Amino acid sequence: MTDDRNSHHPTLAEPLQLTPEELERYDRQLGPGVLSEAGQLRLKQATALVTRVGGMGGPAAQMLAMAGVGTVIIAHGGEMISPDLNRQVLGSEQVLGKPRAPEFAAYLRTMNRLIEVEAVDHEPDDEEARRLARRCDIVLSCPPTFTERLRLNRAAVEAGIPLIDAAQWGMTGTLIVVKPGETACLQCVYPVEPPFEELFPVVGAISCATGALAALEAVKILSGTGDPLFGQLLTYDGFVGRPSVVKLRRNPSCPVCAHC
Ligand SMILES: [Zn+2]
Repeated sequence: MTDDRNSHHPTLAEPLQLTPEELERYDRQLGPGVLSEAGQLRLKQATALVTRVGGMGGPAAQMLAMAGVGTVIIAHGGEMISPDLNRQVLGSEQVLGKPRAPEFAAYLRTMNRLIEVEAVDHEPDDEEARRLARRCDIVLSCPPTFTERLRLNRAAVEAGIPLIDAAQWGMTGTLIVVKPGETACLQCVYPVEPPFEELFPVVGAISCATGALAALEAVKILSGTGDPLFGQLLTYDGFVGRPSVVKLRRNPSCPVCAHC
């Protein structure tokens, strides 16, 4: 993997435009109320990091790939096990016992050969998260642990790129959309890392819904479409079927974003 952030971008010999094949592929998402051709072109030129790619990050990465985000980088360690199959849509029973990231990347490539998919077969540490964020235009943070979520927040804020934090528990999903320098970051919301329960319950349908909404926010931000949920917390309490959106306040002494 190189540090050439825009390695997939067209060169001078390759004009900045969508090909007839791309126009046909993305036809149903182009037009009034959805993306403009210029917005679709911005997606093509964009690089997104999704980590991890399980119940939430999987459908998020899939929707980004199918929408035509030019480079999708997925990161996830470990092998697929039986309890993953209630929610992890990028792998079937045939992937059981196999390493997720390369298998999931291969599946994504079958969904859209017009884009690049890169696989990182482990959870990035601080340095790698920083290095990856510098190559990207957006980070979709979908890990279960606060340690990883806050690490990705730091990396995105440092790189000055938007972060979408997706989280789930039981039948509830949440999204926090961060714009560094303008909105609260994840560290503002969680100044102290909350306790974490390793094997928390989760229903696949809420994982998928939350991941899809994270991808929708990313598509909006990258293409310049609609009003992204910047600085807000969206919660869908699926147990009672109730959504809510609250505005988040910046912490002026946040150690991550106070000086950006
Ligand atoms: Zn902050």
